[in-house]
Amino acid sequence: MNLVLLEEADFEEAAASLASLADGAPRHVVLTGRRLLHLRTVHRAEQGRELRVGLIDGRVGSGVVETIDAERARLRVTLTEPPPAKLDFTLLLSLPRPKTLRRVLQMAATLGIPHLVLMNSWRVEKSYWKSPQLHSAALREQLLLGLEQGGDTVVPQVELQRLLVPFLRDEIEGVARGERLIAHPSATTPCPRHVDGPLTLALGPEGGFLAEEVELFERHGFTPVSLGARLLRVEQAVPALVGRLT
Ligand code: SAH
Repeated sequence: MNLVLLEEADFEEAAASLASLADGAPRHVVLTGRRLLHLRTVHRAEQGRELRVGLIDGRVGSGVVETIDAERARLRVTLTEPPPAKLDFTLLLSLPRPKTLRRVLQMAATLGIPHLVLMNSWRVEKSYWKSPQLHSAALREQLLLGLEQGGDTVVPQVELQRLLVPFLRDEIEGVARGERLIAHPSATTPCPRHVDGPLTLALGPEGGFLAEEVELFERHGFTPVSLGARLLRVEQAVPALVGRLT
């Protein structure tokens, strides 16, 4: 946790709102649970220790530990800077198995991807759509872990699209920004490097896209691109593609 993420409800000051917290004046938060445990066991934080903190969807700054014990930590917080800029990147991800999903959600948040669409495709196992990992609280938990790693506060938007054909037919124009690419190992076009401007990238499931699906994406303006003959796992393909494209 490189950044301790704070919720409005953590603040002691009455009626702490995003607006009133934005003035950079010191405020106090009380932390319990997971974040307290992390402060004690990983940071070994003691009184006087200064930590990097950020308000969810707000600014980042510093938090000085005023008191800390097994029950609670009280920090004096000053929020002064904006969070790091996001990438202009939309990731269309065929819904992976729940364990991979958790990793990719964290990774997407850490890398600064602002918008993620979890979509269906032929080789997505139907049971994955029933996973409790798709509940909004579970999605948010993974995104926050990723933001804490990356030092960001702005929670990425995650959208579920359970039907691929209607998604592409009816909604892709409103979702896709900039250049449209679909990652497919057997594509003949090598994946470009350092593309300027907004990007939308579609990724396949563990078993890959069907040729018919790649054609469907092409009809909606997507160019199939490859990183070469090596087949990467989804959680390897995401950072490799984002690193190469941005
Ligand atoms: N057996 C599958 C591999 C799927 S890997 C196949 O042959 O297609 C899961 C997804 O990661 C792929 O659908 C693709 O979007 C992306 N990916 C993995 N390796 C890649 C590579 N070398 N080039 C482009 N995309 C890749």
